[in-house]
Amino acid sequence: MNVHKISSEWNLAQFYTSDTDAQIEKDMQAIEKACAAFEKKYRGKPFIKSERGMYDALTAYVGLYEKVSGAKPLVYFHYRQALNSSDASVAAKIALLGERMTKAGNKLIFFDVTLSKTPVPLQKKYLKSKKLALFRHVLENIYESGKHTLTEAEERILSLKGQTDGMWVDGVDRALNKRVVTFKDEQVPINEAIPKMGMLTEKADRDLLWEGIHGELKTIHDFCEAELNAFYTSKKISDELRKYEHPYSATLFSHEMDGKTVFGLRDAVNSRMDIAHRFFALKKKLLKLQEMRMHDCNAPLMTGQKKMTFAESHESVRAAFAAFDPDYVRIFDRAFASGHVDVFPKVGKSGGAFHSKTLNNPGVILLNHVDDIRSAFTLAHEMGHLVHSSLAEEAQHVLYRDYSTATAEVASRFAERVYFEHILPTLSKEEQIALRMKVAYEDMNNIFHAISDFNIEHRFYTEVYKRGFVPFDEMCQIFVEENKKCFGKAVTVKPEDGYRIIYISHFRLRYYLYSYAFGSLVARALHAKVQADRAFIPSLKAFMQAGSSKRPAAIFKSIGIDVSKPDFFQVGLDAIEADVQALEKLLSK
Ligand SMILES: [Zn+2]
Repeated sequence: MNVHKISSEWNLAQFYTSDTDAQIEKDMQAIEKACAAFEKKYRGKPFIKSERGMYDALTAYVGLYEKVSGAKPLVYFHYRQALNSSDASVAAKIALLGERMTKAGNKLIFFDVTLSKTPVPLQKKYLKSKKLALFRHVLENIYESGKHTLTEAEERILSLKGQTDGMWVDGVDRALNKRVVTFKDEQVPINEAIPKMGMLTEKADRDLLWEGIHGELKTIHDFCEAELNAFYTSKKISDELRKYEHPYSATLFSHEMDGKTVFGLRDAVNSRMDIAHRFFALKKKLLKLQEMRMHDCNAPLMTGQKKMTFAESHESVRAAFAAFDPDYVRIFDRAFASGHVDVFPKVGKSGGAFHSKTLNNPGVILLNHVDDIRSAFTLAHEMGHLVHSSLAEEAQHVLYRDYSTATAEVASRFAERVYFEHILPTLSKEEQIALRMKVAYEDMNNIFHAISDFNIEHRFYTEVYKRGFVPFDEMCQIFVEENKKCFGKAVTVKPEDGYRIIYISHFRLRYYLYSYAFGSLVARALHAKVQADRAFIPSLKAFMQAGSSKRPAAIFKSIGIDVSKPDFFQVGLDAIEADVQALEKLLSK
């Protein structure tokens, strides 16, 4: 029996009573006024010259940061849009308020630039100062970024010029969106045809659809060749001006990660691609295929998918959390009691699922629950994010409630595993196979495929930085080589598969791919620790409570984990291997 209050819709009245609530304009003007007043008070003033001046300016900045980073009016309309994307008046509000927020925010650029140009002896003094202790980590990051910050005028030029990178990507996207694939008697827009390959149960249908998709991709490959080269070249120019040593340096800097850890992770995963090979061999066997191509890898398995209503997933995820830790179930219940979870699909509502947390506003979760066990896992995943952001909020000063992109997926993947262990023993053998295949497939994507794509992206960048231009055919060849290493013998990767680089957006997101693998493998290692000894749970929570108060490596070190050692990632990889082994055993009987 579930006696807890459950609300299955967002209650946006907690933000504003309606789109025309007079408080929206009042809040917006308060933000604009605060930014203008701050600029007037500190721009061109010698506040960096004394500890006292620094303390006053930084304290004033914290108050401002709460208002600007919370951005309640804009957040409200973004959530309204997520519930109904077709409401044109909401889109107009977002555009208008967004522009006003950018203008207000631009008034503050001088502050970062001024701080970043602090003379080194003063930097050293402030980093040791007791009075400025609260701001130490913020200052460390600003001083470090100062090494890569240009003058205000140059920064403005780069920021204006940077807008055109997005236009290239949009151009290819738009050209792609216009393509229509002929499939049997149907005309399928290419962006529906690509995910459709993973839904077709007949091999012949998948082959036919891929053939149509490939035919359409071919028509825009010249454009894509220019786009990718322009995109990478533009980044090369910025990196040279900003004196970043490697193509990945800027991204890792913003994630507060170091190259040794990330490339240690990459090498660890590259050395265990045999785990992926074994998984895809199993999938091929289950699909009873003579030849398995890339477009077969996501093909559905017909049986064993457990049905679950929302009431059932709510109850079972809640039970898993309750058995795990009081904080987990407390945060879970609070979200459902307070109208912070929007559960069901609706016309106009955005697809997929997400968790969103902004400063001083409640964390919210959007789901599109359909009646199956996958939706229950999505609920566990998004709740994991909410536990992370809630614990950080409760423990940290407003400056440090966020967390690095590198650690963003740790808590969510961890929560999925907690739910997996809870639900698995209750399932039939057929359901267990289906669930294990789903979970392992996600690990293949998040870990082995993410690192394979990371390898591809790294080779693209390295070649463009070295030679200035890489022909499309060569990019395809790189794609094919790396995918062969990832899939192994079970999957036939052909040269035409390289055309996928046209629509895989990851290659335009600047080195963030490793963070999927990092999050998944850290989550599995933490889970192994908890399984070995539940006394580790407070350390797990300490990681979440730390928010962004330290670099991720330092946070992990404080709970006894050294992510800079490549050996560390073997713990997670061994756990994934054990999952694949369990599947091999289940399927051999
Ligand atoms: Zn997530």
